[in-house]
Amino acid sequence: MVGNGVVKGEFCVFKPARVFIEEDALNYDLGKKLYALFSGQDVDLSFTGTHNRIRGLQGVTPYERFLEAKKTLVIGVRRTLDFAGCRPSAHFQLPLTTGCPGRCTYCYLHTTLGKNPYVRVYVNVDEILQAAQRYIEQRLPQSTLFEGSATSDPLSVEHYTGSLAGAINFFAGVEQGFFRIATKQVAVKPLLALKHSGKTRVRLSLNVPYVVQKFERGVPAVKERIRAAVSLRKSGYPVGFLIAPIFVFPGWKEQYRDLIKEISGQWEQCFAVRGLPPVPGADPSFELITHRFTPRAQKNILDLFPESGLPLKESERKFKYGQFGYGKYVYPPEVYNEVKDLFYPLIGRLFPRGEVEYLV
Ligand code: SF4
Repeated sequence: MVGNGVVKGEFCVFKPARVFIEEDALNYDLGKKLYALFSGQDVDLSFTGTHNRIRGLQGVTPYERFLEAKKTLVIGVRRTLDFAGCRPSAHFQLPLTTGCPGRCTYCYLHTTLGKNPYVRVYVNVDEILQAAQRYIEQRLPQSTLFEGSATSDPLSVEHYTGSLAGAINFFAGVEQGFFRIATKQVAVKPLLALKHSGKTRVRLSLNVPYVVQKFERGVPAVKERIRAAVSLRKSGYPVGFLIAPIFVFPGWKEQYRDLIKEISGQWEQCFAVRGLPPVPGADPSFELITHRFTPRAQKNILDLFPESGLPLKESERKFKYGQFGYGKYVYPPEVYNEVKDLFYPLIGRLFPRGEVEYLV
């Protein structure tokens, strides 16, 4: 076992090496449950004053400290119940978890979490969902969409928390409230039997062999991710695919074309065999996100993975301001147009009920 639940050469679910818990978390059922669970396991369990500041993680180099953080689970109470916006994927973020045990070089968490990429789970799930209810009521009669993966891969800790299941059940029963999550994880079995009423869309994040081999670590294989999407669709969930981040490299068009064809092959089989009833909305949805990086991520990535080969040259990109007030380097418009010309017609042809929700 090397670190955070990853057996060399393969993938298995997250199992932390150490756990911190806020004392206040013990006032909640989930906090008590997790404390009892980890007390009986071979992990370092200790209390912390706040989930926002964890000190004393070992490691001499930035990379060693990064690995230690990725093996660390922090259990706390979410105090801020003001939800951030989440364009273009949803109206608001739904903060059930923060962080991810995966170690992808290109990860957007290098911007948002910087040098503190430990995994956080929040035990006051009912309070978070009550806050979501208030947001929904304020926007009536319009519908409100919440993103569960804005700062995390929430499925990576679901085997401990069950928080996604709680959220899926909640949205199944609430008028005009919708939920969506994005994941690279494949442990979807606990979600399959839930009552979801078609209100939660699960998107699997995929990429091509060149990108997976060079820049993804500690996450399941792409074939398994597509299989997980098909299982969810068979259970009546609206399903989608996040093709992200899209990189331009020699042979990129062929590899992305092959990926879309591979999804289509498995998708068609699923329908041919089962004759599935329709789901609300796109079937499947696609979100296309070209590679981008912030100056902060660039610095963190170069500190952590100096030899990764991740393309981070400002001279090859265009600088653009984003919704959170900080700027990022994106591909120039001519590359963006090439990406558009590749994906839109291909998806249109292979997925008659599918839809590209956005390309950024
Ligand atoms: Fe980041 Fe997603 Fe990789 Fe996790 S799986 S490290 S959230 S890119």
